[in-house]
Amino acid sequence: MDKHFINGKWAAGSSGETTPAIDPSTGKEYGRIALGTVEDIDTAVRAARHAFDEGAWGKLTAAERGRLLQKFALLIQDHREELARIEAKDTGKPMTVARNDADAAARYFEYYGGAADKVYGNTIPYLNNHFVAVVREAKGVTGHILPWNYPMQMFGRTLAPSLAAGNATILKPAEAASASILRLAELASEAGLPDGAINVVTGPGSKIGPALAGHHGVDFISFTGSPEVGQLIQKTAADNYINCTLELGGKSPQVVFSDADFDIAIPTILRAIIQNSGQTCSAGSRVLVQRTIYDDFMQRLGDAFGKVRVGSPDMDFDCGPIITSRQRKTVQRFIDKAKADGIPLIAEGTIAEGVDPDGFFVRPSLFGPVPHSNSLAQEEVFGPVLAALSFEDEDDAVRIANGTEFGLVAAAWTRDGGRQMRMSKRLRAGQVFINCYGAGAGIELPFGGTGKSGHGREKGLVALDDYTNLKTVVIQHGS
Ligand code: NAD
Repeated sequence: MDKHFINGKWAAGSSGETTPAIDPSTGKEYGRIALGTVEDIDTAVRAARHAFDEGAWGKLTAAERGRLLQKFALLIQDHREELARIEAKDTGKPMTVARNDADAAARYFEYYGGAADKVYGNTIPYLNNHFVAVVREAKGVTGHILPWNYPMQMFGRTLAPSLAAGNATILKPAEAASASILRLAELASEAGLPDGAINVVTGPGSKIGPALAGHHGVDFISFTGSPEVGQLIQKTAADNYINCTLELGGKSPQVVFSDADFDIAIPTILRAIIQNSGQTCSAGSRVLVQRTIYDDFMQRLGDAFGKVRVGSPDMDFDCGPIITSRQRKTVQRFIDKAKADGIPLIAEGTIAEGVDPDGFFVRPSLFGPVPHSNSLAQEEVFGPVLAALSFEDEDDAVRIANGTEFGLVAAAWTRDGGRQMRMSKRLRAGQVFINCYGAGAGIELPFGGTGKSGHGREKGLVALDDYTNLKTVVIQHGS
């Protein structure tokens, strides 16, 4: 865990320095991770370049690549419990969630492994004595920069399509969540992926992130993280004339009309904000409720919210701690500010007895009514804090729902078929859910944002587009 994984081997890194890995449930150091340097990034990029340009990886057929990725998927599944334990220790998430994340990681490699030999081009009718083919080719070397909330899932989501397309990769995990990613890279090697296909360099984003995004040996950058860093990445990539996908934050609205089915809506809306302690880009962090049912609905949602329990991973409650002490303070600041702004606290969850007092726990909180302009209704908290707002009619609901800079996910709850269609058109987001909220689920479904939530799409077959270049081949055959 205190080394990088470069060219199929553990590597101490050029500085030999390490930094603590902290268990969020105890606030204590439980291991060390390597502090990467610009030189380590350069070594990893060279390894990936070699793997792609001359090494064994670049020589495989698409079917062979796909088979290896599917073998890797099975190995992840075999190591599900071990991986879940690593993830739960490193991020504090309940074991049930960590096991699901291991399953999702395996599923990404299964899905894209099956797609590897189906990355087709096409032919174009042109002049009679010309044959024109448009082929899809791997870009070459792709760089991947990840956040800390779903390390295993993101590893699969971003690496699997790139590898399926034939690229070699370098991944920089978040400082707070590198452990499961390092183990996954090792397992990939055990599954038979050739050296250099996957390289992992750990350490501080501010130093090695720009070194990766700006490296001349990198052909594409996939970034998942905050809007602020995403903007920097895009500028760096532009300086290098390369493209990037940005999967950024959200302030996703759940719009509840008076004809909604409360029995389905309430548990789903609750889950969408407490899942992973609200540290989910697609968390449903605003609930917009029609005025005529506001009191009744909030009463029932508040009752459900009050039953939420927070504990350490082995307690396997609804929520674990927040990832770092710093992030916990940020979440607490939002809660304190909402109170200071006079916004009523409708309900809050409980922190289980027996948790370590030094763990980064926070009580899930439901506030409302929150004014549309308040920071709690506009800014991403990235914690288990739900802002409730009320609206009059459909137009009002759309205005409020679309009234932030983000556009990741939106949902509407209504039994009216016409309104379901209208809302699916009018809500501005990369994903719209009607009478459900499956964000994060469905590896087959394209996922991404608009506005401050970023651009580009991951998941689904469409993700392969970003990892390939089109080449038009024109052959003249006769005069
Ligand atoms: P972050 O932007 O602080 O960090 C993300 C990654 O970027 C980390 O690996 C970090 O080390 C690195 N980094 C930091 N500074 C950098 C720089 N100057 N250049 C290059 N890399 C740098 O984000 P975070 O706090 O880890 O994650 C939380 C954010 O991620 C939230 O905004 C959340 O919504 C977003 N997120 C989005 C999705 C999505 O799919 N849309 C998924 C998960 C998280």
